[in-house]
Amino acid sequence: MTVDLASYAKEKGIKYFMISFTDLFGGQRAKLVPAQAIADMQEDGAGFAGFAAWLDLTPAHPDMLAVPDPASVIQLPWQPDVAWVAANCVMEGKGVDQAPRNVLQRLIDEAAAEGMHVKTGVEAEYFLLTPDGNQISDPFDTAEKPCYDQQAVMRRYDVVKEICDYMLDLGWGPYQNDHEDANGQFEMNWEFDDAMATADKHSFFKFMTKSVAEKHGYRATFMPKPIAGLTGNGCHVHISVWDKPGAAAKTNVFATTPTSENQASELGLSENGRHFLGGIMKHASALAAITNPTVNSYKRINAPRTTSGATWAPNTVTWTGNNRTHMVRVPGPGRFELRLPDGAANPYLLQAVIIAAGLDGIRSKAEPGKRHDIDMYAQGHSVRGAPKLPLNLLDALREYDKDKSLKAAMGDEFSAAYLKLKQQEWNSFVSHFTQWEKDNTLDI
Ligand SMILES: [Mg+2]
Repeated sequence: MTVDLASYAKEKGIKYFMISFTDLFGGQRAKLVPAQAIADMQEDGAGFAGFAAWLDLTPAHPDMLAVPDPASVIQLPWQPDVAWVAANCVMEGKGVDQAPRNVLQRLIDEAAAEGMHVKTGVEAEYFLLTPDGNQISDPFDTAEKPCYDQQAVMRRYDVVKEICDYMLDLGWGPYQNDHEDANGQFEMNWEFDDAMATADKHSFFKFMTKSVAEKHGYRATFMPKPIAGLTGNGCHVHISVWDKPGAAAKTNVFATTPTSENQASELGLSENGRHFLGGIMKHASALAAITNPTVNSYKRINAPRTTSGATWAPNTVTWTGNNRTHMVRVPGPGRFELRLPDGAANPYLLQAVIIAAGLDGIRSKAEPGKRHDIDMYAQGHSVRGAPKLPLNLLDALREYDKDKSLKAAMGDEFSAAYLKLKQQEWNSFVSHFTQWEKDNTLDI
C-alpha cells in the first residue's frame, strides 16, 4: 500500500521532508521540502540541476526530478519533525538510467522475473574520529588488539546506544554492537532484508551515524582506510536468494542439506547458490570497481599486516567455508559473505553489482572454482591460478571496462557514466604531487 506522505506528515508531526537521492559517488543529496508542499512533490518530484551532482549530466540538461519512494520514508529519530525519503531520479518522464537507485531497481526486477528475490545484510564499519578527522576521538583507545574491547566500547556508549536505540525504534532488528579491530572503530549489525530495503537502510545508517557522532562532538567516517597501519572499514555483505520478496519469503533458494556432491553443497549451498557465487568469483576483479570505488579503497585490500595482526580484507579471488581470510566465506548453509566491499561503496550500486554478477553466474552456470580451506594470510602464496584483486582504482576500472557482460548487466548508460567520472577522479589523483615522490626521488 502506498503511503500518502501528506497524511504521514499530519499523523507524525512532520514539518519537513528530506527528499534524498544518491549520486554515482555515493553522495546523498537532498532538498528540504515543507510538509504543506509534499503532496505535489510526491507526484511530480523535487527539481534538481543534475550537473551539480555526480551523475554525468551537463548544465544544459533539463530539470532532474527526484520522485520520493514513499515505502522508504523514515522519521528522523534525532530530529522527529523531519522525515527522510529516498527518491528515484527522473528526467522528462523517464528514469535516469545511470542513477544508482534506478540501476538497483532494474536488477531487482530482472531477478524477480526469474523467480529470485535477493536478500542481504551489510556490516557497515566506521571510525569515530576528532572533528577535524585527524585522530581517533578516544585517546585511551590504544590497545594492540582492540577488537571487542569492552572498556573502549563503553567509553563510546553514548553514541553506540543512541544509534542502536534508534534502530530498535525503527524496527530494524539490531542485534549486536562492538568495538572493531582498529582503534576507534565500531560495528553495529541489524537484520538482513530485501536488497532495496537494505540499500535504503544502509544509506540511512550512514546519515544517522554521522549525524549522531556530530551531535556528540565526533566525526564518524566510513572511509576504507582512514588511518595507515590500522584495519580499514569493510562493508561485508551476506547474501541469500529467496522464493518471494519481503515477509512472504518462505524458501531460501540458496540452501540445501549438506551433501558430498561437490565442495559448495558440502557447505549447504544449492546449485543456484553455487552458480551465483560462481558469478561473483568470475566478475570479482571487475566488480571491485563498484565495491571498492575510491583511490583509498586499495589501501585496505592488498594492505600489509595491520598492528592488530590481520587486515581482515582479501587480496585474492578465493572462497572458503567458515574462514575470514578469503574474499568469500560460506559461514553456514544457504548464504555466503562477500568480504570485498568497503565503507566507500555506494549502497545501491553495491547491491546492484552483486545481483548483476550473481544473475550472470546463474544464467551462464558459472562455477566458483576450487574451495581453499587454508589461512590465506599465512599460506596464500601456495594458491595457484587464483586472480589477484586489482592493485589500485585504475586497474579495477580497466577490469570493469573489459568485462562486457557485467557492464551490460549494470546498464550501458550507467557503465559509461561511471567509468568516465571515475577515470576523471583517477586522473585528479595521479596529477597530485606527493611527498613520497620527493622522499624517494630527490637524491636519485
Ligand atoms: Mg567487522
